Amino acid sequence: MQVDDVIIFFLSELRDHLAQLAFDRKNPIYMGITGQQWPVALLGQVVDLRIPDLFADAAYNGRRQHDIPDGAETDDEDLRHRDSYGVKVLKITNYVSLPAIMTFIDTHTHLYLDAFDHDRDQVIQSALEKHVEVMLLPNIDRGSIDTMQQLCSRYPGICLPMMGLHPTSVNGTYEEELQMIDKCLEHPSYVAVGEIGMDLYWDHTYQREQELVFRHQISLALEKHLPVVIHSRNAIDRIIEILQDYCDSGLTGVFHCFTGSLYQARQIIEMGFYLGIGGVLTFQKSGLAHVVSQVDLEHILLETDSPFLAPVPYRGKRNESAYLPLVAEKLAEIRGTTTADVAGITTANARKLFALDRYVIH
Ligand SMILES: [Zn+2]
Repeated sequence: MQVDDVIIFFLSELRDHLAQLAFDRKNPIYMGITGQQWPVALLGQVVDLRIPDLFADAAYNGRRQHDIPDGAETDDEDLRHRDSYGVKVLKITNYVSLPAIMTFIDTHTHLYLDAFDHDRDQVIQSALEKHVEVMLLPNIDRGSIDTMQQLCSRYPGICLPMMGLHPTSVNGTYEEELQMIDKCLEHPSYVAVGEIGMDLYWDHTYQREQELVFRHQISLALEKHLPVVIHSRNAIDRIIEILQDYCDSGLTGVFHCFTGSLYQARQIIEMGFYLGIGGVLTFQKSGLAHVVSQVDLEHILLETDSPFLAPVPYRGKRNESAYLPLVAEKLAEIRGTTTADVAGITTANARKLFALDRYVIH
């Protein structure tokens, strides 16, 4: 990649730092990770590049790459810069066309399940090659905890665990299961309480218990200051009703695998929750395309829900995190924007919701 020809003027006392970071060091990653595009159309225009984001991303990536701005290892001083400065590009006098380096976060993937037993390392490698840099693993029940933890230990900073009891695992023994969840959550290594919620698709037998368990886990999330990752199959309206009891609590989270109506999407956004969008978006008759065409990217997270719900052209096959960019491409097409834009915004959303800077240490 050739970056020698890039000349950009910054209106800031920070221009030296920025110039040094982005270009003198010939490290084009600082151009791509913001999700910003650098098309010819920008030439000569005044462009707000949201440099605080650039700093945040650079500091974040700096854990692996460089430091901001002193060249030593990334430390708290560097992370403080993320909020401290805003600069504006006056104009771009010349540039070379660089493919934006997009990074993705798969916010919901069950890579610890036995569907991946024969090639798990290869699956994670493929995801990393597609710039899916972080994979968040939702728990299911007591039986999945060990395999999930093992995977997270093998890939620290890449595979990060959640802890929760899945609604389809709620039955007559839910109290014992919940005790286990309570105990696990004493450990601060979880990015969320999940996946939790209600599933009335198969069976209504344990609906009352599902609600009890859901509320209990919401309380845990509030106590631990963690977001919730919600499974809401055939139960979106009931879950929205329940969440309204917590409207001033500071509770936040995501409706994973959202496939509801535009009205429901708006209710969810109004409550400060995100919509988790995955392979269903690529299914022709899902109706989800219309919904997301009306929703700002600021409210969307990308997910695969692997090994389930593989996007087209893999529909019906095993899903994996490496397919996440296919969902981003579809979303970009629907919204009339670039995949880089979708990647930049949805990745920032995920970092924010799950406070990933606390966990991702490369
Ligand atoms: Zn799931």
